[in-house]
Amino acid sequence: MKTQDVIKMFDEYVIGNYSRLPRAIVRGKGSYIFDADGNQILDMFPGWAVSGIGHCHPKVVKAIQKQAEMLLHMDNTFYTEAQGKLAKLLSERAFGGKTFFCNSGAEANEAALKLARIHTPKGKYKYITAIGSFHGRTFGAMTATAQPKKFEHFQPVVPGFVYVPFNDIVALEKAFDDEVAAVLIEPIQGEGGINVATPEYMKAIRRLCDKNQAMMILDEVQTGMGRTGKWFGYQDYDVVPDIITLAKALGGGAAIGAMMAKPEVAASLVPGTHASTFGGNCIACAAGIAVIEAIEEENLLENASKMGKYASDKLNQLKSKHTVIDHVRGKGLMIGIQLKQPGAQIVADCLKEGLRINCTQDTVVRFMPSMTVTKIEIDKAVEILDNVLGRMNL
Ligand SMILES: *Cc1c(COP(=O)(O)O)cnc(C)c1O
Repeated sequence: MKTQDVIKMFDEYVIGNYSRLPRAIVRGKGSYIFDADGNQILDMFPGWAVSGIGHCHPKVVKAIQKQAEMLLHMDNTFYTEAQGKLAKLLSERAFGGKTFFCNSGAEANEAALKLARIHTPKGKYKYITAIGSFHGRTFGAMTATAQPKKFEHFQPVVPGFVYVPFNDIVALEKAFDDEVAAVLIEPIQGEGGINVATPEYMKAIRRLCDKNQAMMILDEVQTGMGRTGKWFGYQDYDVVPDIITLAKALGGGAAIGAMMAKPEVAASLVPGTHASTFGGNCIACAAGIAVIEAIEEENLLENASKMGKYASDKLNQLKSKHTVIDHVRGKGLMIGIQLKQPGAQIVADCLKEGLRINCTQDTVVRFMPSMTVTKIEIDKAVEILDNVLGRMNL
């Protein structure tokens, strides 16, 4: 089937809740995807950060194949080695936490919100989240997402959420009272436009949570698994959270979510309080193990730091040529280009030239390549962006 045939099928049978780019993709390899009409596209936003170590990483593909022949799925009535091993690998790379597995970022955040209420003293039920955050689309995660546009059609939403401006310590102090169970925050707001938390802010969250017996929950769904150059975004700060949530890059393309909590906190999630049928299934966990092994064997944390710096420098050079660029910000391979005007047309034009990037919050172009990205690929991407901006006379 060609792209047009696939689009026709979607128009008739698939619910239209996404605005999609007009290509049907059939194959992916590393930093490249290939569409149904034979075009090759350089992907600088692979899978919205899901394909964190590139499309179809051979180690992940092999692990899935091997697991598929043994056991596709086993329910949580039993034990499986893959789930235990992935939890161990995560624990060793974070704060010695214990993990609950689910299937998505939203579900990981739901688990964290529930754990905070069950673990903290009775009467604590409120959650503080930051304006511009994104935590997912289920009712709890949607209400946590402090962007009122996202839930205007879905009132009444879940009670108990309090919103504060991001990186504002005074507002955070004011928002705290005896009823706060948790603060939920992204170390770097992704959908919110690549807004990096300040070290002082992270420390203030930790201090206020300790003082008020509340949980510090970090949503690492986008920052996690190496994108920032560390395993987890919080490791760039002098704080240890009580709970982190993961998804996206964790499965290297397989659907998986995870919530890791300090052991003494995790202990509150006893049988009957929470569950997920597919959570921690064999295929997803085998993929997750392969992702962690690949990151280590191929030094991808280091590559993320190095290539992140290289890409930021190159994008900063574009700033002097194109006045539409206000500034470049971010950390590691989580880079935002703040424009002075909307960026949707730039994204569409880049795609026509064979480059896939993303635009969020109207005016922030997101550049989040795979951790396996090379200088040559970055050069190519920046060249295409440079040409597109030049042609648009921006
Ligand atoms: C993508 C994302 C989510 C939601 O993940 P889903 O798998 O789509 O439910 C939550 N938090 C952050 C920070 C994200 O980037």
